[in-house]
Amino acid sequence: MVRFTVLASGSKGNCTVISGGRTRILIDAGLSCRELFKRMKLVGEDPETLDAIIITHEHQDHINGLAVTARKLGIPVYFTEPTHRAWTRWLTPRRTMTYAQWLEQCRKQAAERQAEADSAAEGEADEVEAIAGQAVEATGTDDGAGLETRTTAGLETGATAQTDAPADQPPSRKEDPTWLPAVQYFEAGRPFEIGDIALSPFTIPHDAADPVGFVLKAEGVRMGFATDLGYIPPNVKAQLKGVDLLLLESNHDLEMLRDGPYPWSVKQRVLSRVGHLSNETASEFLSTGYDGQAAYVILAHLSESNNLPELARVSADRALSFRASLLANRLLLAEQHQPLEPITF
Ligand SMILES: [Zn+2]
Ligand SMILES: [Zn+2]
Repeated sequence: MVRFTVLASGSKGNCTVISGGRTRILIDAGLSCRELFKRMKLVGEDPETLDAIIITHEHQDHINGLAVTARKLGIPVYFTEPTHRAWTRWLTPRRTMTYAQWLEQCRKQAAERQAEADSAAEGEADEVEAIAGQAVEATGTDDGAGLETRTTAGLETGATAQTDAPADQPPSRKEDPTWLPAVQYFEAGRPFEIGDIALSPFTIPHDAADPVGFVLKAEGVRMGFATDLGYIPPNVKAQLKGVDLLLLESNHDLEMLRDGPYPWSVKQRVLSRVGHLSNETASEFLSTGYDGQAAYVILAHLSESNNLPELARVSADRALSFRASLLANRLLLAEQHQPLEPITF
C-alpha cells in the first residue's frame, strides 16, 4: 500500500511522509523534531521506521528540524550538493569557507562516520563512501588557509563558540551543528531510488540554491510534488503529466498579497518568477496545462497572511470543473497546523 501524508504545509514548516513497499521517507523537515514525531504518531506513522529524509531546498520552513531529526533517527539525508552547502552555510553563518574547505569538512565528517561504522563492525558504509569519494576529488585544491571568523561586535552573545575550534580544522562531531549521520547527493534530472520508492527530481524556479520538485513512484503509483515555485515552466508541466496524485502550491491570492501587510520588497519577492505560485497561476495550470488524470489534487503551501483556504479552493474548483472525469481530481487543502488525512492507494 502507498500512503501519502502531508504533516504540515506552509511558511511555518513543511513535512510530508510517503510510504511505499517497505520504504518510508520524509520530504522536507520543516517541523521541529518533537512536532514532527507528534504529528506522525497522530496519523499512525512510526517515526522510527523512517528510512531517509529528502530536502527540496534550504529555506527555513523546509529544514528547521533537519539536523535534530536525522541525528535522533540515525538516517541519511538526501540533498543536491548546492542545497547541502547552503544549509551548512545557514547553520554556520559566522564562518566563511572556501569551496575546498567545505569539501574538506565533508570529507572529515565522512571519515568520522566511517571510523564509527568500522568500530561498530557494521559493513554498510556505502553512503559514507559516496560522499567521502566526492570530497576527496577536490581536496587537492585546498590552499590550507584557515577558516575566516567574522565577528559583529556587540551583536552576538555566543561569539566565543567558534573561536574554540582551531582555525584550520572543522569542529568535531559534538560541536558541529552541520553533522549528519549520512549524506547522499542527488541531481535534478537524474532519477534515483530509495528502497521501494523511485524519485525523479526536477528543477523549479525559486530563490534558493538549487530547488527541486519531485515525481515519486511506488507500487506503480505516481505522485507529483511541486511547491515553492514562482511559475510553472515547461519542464515542470512535462514532469507533472500522468500523476495519480498532484501536490501543487497555491500560495497567495494576488489581491490579498497586493493589499496585505508585507513590505513592498517582500511582495515583489513572492510575486517574482522565483517566488511562489498564486491561486490564479495554480488554477490556470489546472485548467490548461495539467492533464486532469490525478485522483487527488492537494493545494499546498497556502500563505496565512495572503490567502484564505476558501479562495484557493474556489479558484481550483472552478479550474477543475471543466475536467470530464468525475472520479478524478478530488481536491484537498494541506494545512499548516494539522496533518492532512493520509491518502492511500
Ligand atoms: Zn517554503
Ligand atoms: Zn522556499
